[in-house]
Amino acid sequence: MARYTGSVCRLCRREGSKLYLKGDRCYSDKCAIDRRAYAPGQHGQRRTKVSEYGIQLREKQKARRIYGVLESQFRKYFKEADRQKGVTGDNLMRLLERRLDNIVFRLGLAGSRAEARQLIRHGHFTVNGKKVDIPSYLVKAGQEIAVRDKSKNSAKFKEISEAAGHKTAPAWLELDSENLVGRIVALPSREDIDVPIEEHLIVELYSR
Ligand code: SF4
Repeated sequence: MARYTGSVCRLCRREGSKLYLKGDRCYSDKCAIDRRAYAPGQHGQRRTKVSEYGIQLREKQKARRIYGVLESQFRKYFKEADRQKGVTGDNLMRLLERRLDNIVFRLGLAGSRAEARQLIRHGHFTVNGKKVDIPSYLVKAGQEIAVRDKSKNSAKFKEISEAAGHKTAPAWLELDSENLVGRIVALPSREDIDVPIEEHLIVELYSR
């Protein structure tokens, strides 16, 4: 399946909730869902009864869209989450949070997960001192994520460094905003992950 390249605000409107895909714009009065709180398209304002399957499917799509993951990758995360000990839904959310693009976004080193993906692909980050340009790289507790020395002086990262100083990283992460270095203090528990997903619906969907 090809990656979606259309307007990301349409995705929020399709899911009927803010997915925060556009960085600062999502917190402004320019947010499309605040202005047009109905699904896009000709029939977007129609009232339709959604089946149980439809509700589960929408929840999975919402999670995929928030983290920017394709269907096949998402299934792999689910299989891995199911294989691990503990609650499958919690494991799934933790796996998604461990993606390098998510961590870069959470640290405030990018305005959105999409921007984080682009910066990672362009080779601006290291993990424990080694260049990593794979957005889906799964980060482990204790690892250090840093902006590469030669990227730090670019206008983009100067701007990011200033903005990062005003943001607060989640408790399970640590950021040195002056040196643009972050660390995973510990892997997050479900309570640490402020994503509006009811993951039990996703588990139910894949368990059909
Ligand atoms: Fe979604 Fe952000 Fe667009 Fe609002 S501005 S509709 S939250 S992507």
